[in-house]
Amino acid sequence: MVTGPSTTTAVQKAVGPVVLLGPPGAGKGTQAKRIAEHFGIPQISTGDILRANVAAGTELGKQAKSVMESGNLVPDELLFGMVSARVGEADCARGYILDGFPRTLAQAEWLDKFFQNQRDAQLPPVVVDIQVGYNELLGRLTGRRTCPTCGRIYNVHLSPPKVEGLCDVEGSKLVTRKDDEETVIAERLKAYERQTAPLTDYYKSQGRLLILDGSRSIDEVTSQAFQAIEKAREKNVGQR
Ligand code: AMP
Repeated sequence: MVTGPSTTTAVQKAVGPVVLLGPPGAGKGTQAKRIAEHFGIPQISTGDILRANVAAGTELGKQAKSVMESGNLVPDELLFGMVSARVGEADCARGYILDGFPRTLAQAEWLDKFFQNQRDAQLPPVVVDIQVGYNELLGRLTGRRTCPTCGRIYNVHLSPPKVEGLCDVEGSKLVTRKDDEETVIAERLKAYERQTAPLTDYYKSQGRLLILDGSRSIDEVTSQAFQAIEKAREKNVGQR
């Protein structure tokens, strides 16, 4: 199984798990990268790990491929082993950011049990929800282009590359992800409404939910995210 790259960081304050929620196109990937860099913790994107497994032709990748291409969610059971293996890696000891997991109530309940079993080692999770309206999401998703070499994300309307169609850093030809094609986008947004949106209430009832206004600029959302995580961390550390 491909579990994604590990990164090593200098010894810093513990951050614990950060859960990033939000519909497709809310900017989770972009913000997760910035949060990961700022706090020195790895970004764990279940979508990236699944795509790496599809590309490598692993058993997991074979099972996930057609579901992903249709815009639906991969069965929960395929995610659990994948996430626990990645989170158990050494670079996650101080914390990590989950980008795209959980996406169903069953995944959220599984994650709560997982956190309970790890309670001595980890701070309680911080849950950040990036909220964006439906029409804005559609525009963002149809304009999204990705660098196949480094994974950088561009948007032909909002954040185009310097040279049309090419990655600023790698120079590679940008691609439209298969699941960013229009019919698939509609399915992904439906899957979000049906299966993932209820997680907002789930975490709200636990008193954990931190809501960010994802319609603001990328930098503004980043600064809201940093502040929310730092504040939640101070509170949690104070309660220990
Ligand atoms: P993403 O890159 O996060 O948009 O994920 C791309 C696709 O991977 C999704 O449309 C799903 O098919 C699959 N996927 C990623 N994360 C999950 C998850 N937590 N549960 C089920 N399917 C997932």
